Amino acid sequence: MRQSILFGKTLRKGPKDEISKNANLLVRGGFVAKEIAGIYSFLPLGLRVLDKIARIIRGEMNDVLGAQEILMPALHPIENYQKTGREKIDVLFHTELASGGKLVLGQSHEEIVVPLAKHFISSYRDLPLGLYQIQTKFRNELRAKSGMLRGREFMMKDLYSFHADENDFEKYYERAKIAYKDIFEKAGLGGQTYLTFASGGTFSKYSHEFQTITEAGEDTIYLCKECKIAINDEIIGEQKNCPQCNAPIAKLLQEKAIEVGNIFPLKTRFSDAFGLSYIDKSGQTHPVVMGCYGIGLGRVLGAIVEVHNDKNGIIWPESVAPYKVHLIELRTKNLELSDDPVRGAAEKLYNHLLAKGIEVLYDDRDDKTAGEKFTDADLIGIPWRVVISEKTVQRNAIEVKKRDSPGSELMSVVSFLQNLKVKM
Ligand SMILES: [Zn+2]
Repeated sequence: MRQSILFGKTLRKGPKDEISKNANLLVRGGFVAKEIAGIYSFLPLGLRVLDKIARIIRGEMNDVLGAQEILMPALHPIENYQKTGREKIDVLFHTELASGGKLVLGQSHEEIVVPLAKHFISSYRDLPLGLYQIQTKFRNELRAKSGMLRGREFMMKDLYSFHADENDFEKYYERAKIAYKDIFEKAGLGGQTYLTFASGGTFSKYSHEFQTITEAGEDTIYLCKECKIAINDEIIGEQKNCPQCNAPIAKLLQEKAIEVGNIFPLKTRFSDAFGLSYIDKSGQTHPVVMGCYGIGLGRVLGAIVEVHNDKNGIIWPESVAPYKVHLIELRTKNLELSDDPVRGAAEKLYNHLLAKGIEVLYDDRDDKTAGEKFTDADLIGIPWRVVISEKTVQRNAIEVKKRDSPGSELMSVVSFLQNLKVKM
């Protein structure tokens, strides 16, 4: 991608009313643009990151959990919520049809997926089943001051699993824990993200959250260093010991954290509401046992930015970076474009990297100084910075710097490709 035509520009200052670090850096870097608090447009750079997070999630859903992707509507009939008693949820957006009839904008999809599954599940042969989607959710938050961490409109992956009995559900739930751990690991949050025991509400003793430790977190968790799990502030209550290893609660460390995902046993709460049942081998009817599993993609993105940054900008983990290489051309002064060997060398390298399948953002802008280009590169945070200048052309080399290391190095293109682990 040529930066001269890239839609979205870097800003020296973030929006005045944006107090969260993640949104500030994302707006300044040209990843997102703010409409109002909690509502953002994704620009090309931001959408690339979001797509990479989605790709990591889809990989685990499809290949590890054997789930199938669907896409459900955002407009839900209120009648479905009257069946589950959730029509009074305070964050629901309400609207109505011109032809009459009340609707809500989906903040979760149990009220849609269960009636949908009922069309197709009737026998034990139809189970187990995992259905997921990556879709826009809406929450009418009173306050949305944490940037990507608490949106009023946001992308979410929600998975629903359907089982013949508790035993089958438990096995799937344990596999989901592992898949979630892998997702956060692959997205660059492995070192800071902990499986966290949370209140199970009315459905079961515990549900589980995945909490990423950062100062920007709105939640408080208690981290057990012994077994690397945490407990949410809201359930610590009468708890005397770590539910996993029995360590005394007093030994746990209090931390601020962001909830980036959650997994939840639903038992037969929603199956009962909609009469979702199946017939077993002996002809007996049973309610279907369910679980639900969410990940907020914008939250993951926001959490990555909160965790991976320095005073100059974002430092993307390679797995989710919008581009792998930021190629920066520093044109020779007083030379016409067509006469400048720097332009020739930069164009050649750009095409060479593209031919190797490497994602490159090429800073070919003619109206920016070297200082401006470097400041932008640090702010945007692409993992590898490659500079082509008069000096590098004379030495038949390129200047390579990793975003998270202080110094740069002159090297040949071949050595650089080896560093990127690209096949020759
Ligand atoms: Zn423990």
